[in-house]
Amino acid sequence: MPLPDLYQIDALFTEDELMVRDAVREFVAERIMPGIRQWNREGRFPSELIQPMARLGMLGAYLKGYGCAGVSYNAYGLMMQELEAGDSGFRSFVSVQNGLVMYPIFTFGTQEQKDRWLPKLATGEAVGCFGLTEPDFGSNPSGIITTARKVKGGYVLNGVKRWATNATIADVAIVWAKLDGKIHGFLVEKGTPGFSAPEITGKWSLRVSVSSEIHLDDCHIPEENILSEAKGLKAPLMCLNQARYSIAWGAIGAARACLEETLEYAKTRVQFDRPIAGFQLVQAKFAQMWTDVTNAQLLCYRLGQLMDQAIAKPAAISMAKRNNVAIALNTARVCRDILGASGICDDYNIIRHMNNLESVYTYEGTHDIQTLILGQELTGLAAYT
Ligand SMILES: Cc1cc2nc3c(=O)[nH]c(=O)nc-3n(C[C@H](O)[C@H](O)[C@H](O)COP(=O)(O)OP(=O)(O)OC[C@H]3O[C@@H](n4cnc5c(N)ncnc54)[C@H](O)[C@@H]3O)c2cc1C
Repeated sequence: MPLPDLYQIDALFTEDELMVRDAVREFVAERIMPGIRQWNREGRFPSELIQPMARLGMLGAYLKGYGCAGVSYNAYGLMMQELEAGDSGFRSFVSVQNGLVMYPIFTFGTQEQKDRWLPKLATGEAVGCFGLTEPDFGSNPSGIITTARKVKGGYVLNGVKRWATNATIADVAIVWAKLDGKIHGFLVEKGTPGFSAPEITGKWSLRVSVSSEIHLDDCHIPEENILSEAKGLKAPLMCLNQARYSIAWGAIGAARACLEETLEYAKTRVQFDRPIAGFQLVQAKFAQMWTDVTNAQLLCYRLGQLMDQAIAKPAAISMAKRNNVAIALNTARVCRDILGASGICDDYNIIRHMNNLESVYTYEGTHDIQTLILGQELTGLAAYT
């Protein structure tokens, strides 16, 4: 059963935005939910669903031209909310393809790069990935040690990236490397000698998502594969802001899914001769989670408006990512508690969402890094070091 819309939040969206949301909701119900338990057990991302997701306009959703849907940021947010109600792995796929691959090509790429890659990435015919994080540089990307060296006719890249979503299945990698000590973005195509992307195994979170290393061993790329407008750390940080926006929305979906499933459970689970939903302690938990989800939706709705007007400050995006993922993770944990022992079993979706949200809490800037971004915005003092 859907949660009651106490604040009439649906009334804030246009008919088109609600139609987009409902189409993704239906896709999740029909194409994701029947298979998700098995894929999660197998640790497999069903890449056969990439093109169906593309057909719903999810890839490059908010970009204009190149076969992209060009919808509003709020419509895109609603898509991400619904997708993550299914599983964070699918939302991660779309967030990376959009915010970390198509957005940088669209924003920093040459006309040739845009023409070559954006239409294929929009249809899902091509998959992209983003390599910024390294084994020794996660929260502090300014320290990355992957290098690019200018040679006749191109560049030679050397280094190791870690945790690049989709890299094993990607046709193109956006690799961030230092050229003469300054960060630049490069397009590295699948099959380039010296490029490999082994999958990271053993994950107990985001199992329905491909996470990889990227190895660059004297990897020679042509001159025209530099993202010429992406110079300095600001460029990858702009991409991360796009991804954080979609994460902020997606987390609401995961939280809502947990809450809806738990509400049904609690109304029928009887202990001490009454449904546990009737106990005050359980109701207190529900009241808080419902309030948290509602707050998160309102925060994102306003953020979407600011994004459409291109006036959202990075700190505003950090506030939404930080708040919404934290309330989602807390909601998943409290829901797990309300299900008792049943909550640890994948007969219910909650433990999967809970485990997924541990990654979401960490990636694209950890919870604490978002805290420091807000601290700096408010005080004018950077507290990273
Ligand atoms: C499933 C998954 C997918 C990912 N996908 C991608 C991707 O596609 N591309 C990509 O480039 N990266 C990706 N990442 C990497 C992700 O962005 C990093 O994991 C994240 O930035 C944190 O870096 P780290 O894991 O090295 O943690 P660390 O930076 O080592 O942080 C560890 C802890 O220290 C804390 N910490 C660090 N610095 C400070 C400080 N100054 N003050 C206070 N606390 C601090 C952190 O908050 C955290 O709690 C992915 C990660 C995961 C788990």
